[in-house]
Amino acid sequence: MSDYPKPLSTLTIDLDAVAWNWLSLKKMLKAGADCAAVVKADAYGLGASKVALALYAQGCRHFFVAHFSEALDVRGVLAPDACIYLLNGPYGAKPDDFAQHGFIPVLNSMGDMDYWQDTGLPCVLHLDTGMNRLGLGADDAVDDAVLKKLDLRYVMSHLACADEPAHELNALQLQRFQKRIAALGKACRYSFANSSGIFLGQDYHFDLARPGCALYGINPVPHLKNPMKNPVKLEATIVQVRDGKAGETVGYGAGYKIALPTKCATVSLGYADGYLRSLTGKGVVFIQGKACPVIGRVSMDSIVADVTHLEHVPTGTYAEIIGDNQSADDVAAQAGTIGYEILTSLGARYKRKYLGS
Ligand SMILES: *Cc1c(COP(=O)(O)O)cnc(C)c1O
Repeated sequence: MSDYPKPLSTLTIDLDAVAWNWLSLKKMLKAGADCAAVVKADAYGLGASKVALALYAQGCRHFFVAHFSEALDVRGVLAPDACIYLLNGPYGAKPDDFAQHGFIPVLNSMGDMDYWQDTGLPCVLHLDTGMNRLGLGADDAVDDAVLKKLDLRYVMSHLACADEPAHELNALQLQRFQKRIAALGKACRYSFANSSGIFLGQDYHFDLARPGCALYGINPVPHLKNPMKNPVKLEATIVQVRDGKAGETVGYGAGYKIALPTKCATVSLGYADGYLRSLTGKGVVFIQGKACPVIGRVSMDSIVADVTHLEHVPTGTYAEIIGDNQSADDVAAQAGTIGYEILTSLGARYKRKYLGS
């Protein structure tokens, strides 16, 4: 019994590492440029209010979220001088509610501009330069009278391929942005670079950078060694160790056939916890510092790891899912996805521990 007072799985977030990441990105920016923090989707799964508070303490005053509800989460912990921007636009609440909380919507279309023009409230204008997702297109003829009425805090655009520095769309988007902001003919501040965009050089920095993933340890320069610190440690408990006999199978669908006698450790996390089912046959966890392949299908609440090569594995031992031995990007590579999806899938059943500020 003595093994069991501890939680079945623990997610530890090192806020000092997040702060270090923000400061190191800020240091890269050209003189006069400021650094925001993108904390949408609960700060990519790490906890928006904790992350926002830690970054505010480092001097961060600009926070980007997607939804009104996310903005409320962040507002609750930040002093009034923090600016909170809503990337998904002026929706989810009335302009009065935006005013009440001091939220600043990103206007993504001509319709958004019309809707906001008479509110007298601050806003950001988004120009699409190649993403074709959100923002005014090159053919949208902006009405000068409407533009004049808007209290524009920033004009922004978003890069589609910044994580591929050699991609021709980067320079093309930069060129288009420069041309479009000149044509607007209204003096303003500008925001362009996401995490990877910061690494494309000072031409991409403008007045406000908007890093997200790099704050959370995802490599913004996938072709190079990761310059960021990993703030995420995810551990789950081994709840059983079984002797698998040759000829037997493991898990649903009898998907894994045991060839030689195998020591099977059942780990208490599954796809309901964000351990993606696509990790079936591909995932690796670290037990006692050693890589152990996941065998059989990923279940809802558990996975099975092959620990035959380990000397003695008592129940209650932690398996490391993300941590010093493998990053969210590594797990993503095993699953055939990106680190962003691994982090934003992190489940609600973990005991969360926050280290640092
Ligand atoms: C999510 C997002 C970001 C942050 O991007 P990262 O690649 O995570 O740094 C910046 N700007 C916009 C518009 C976004 O949607």
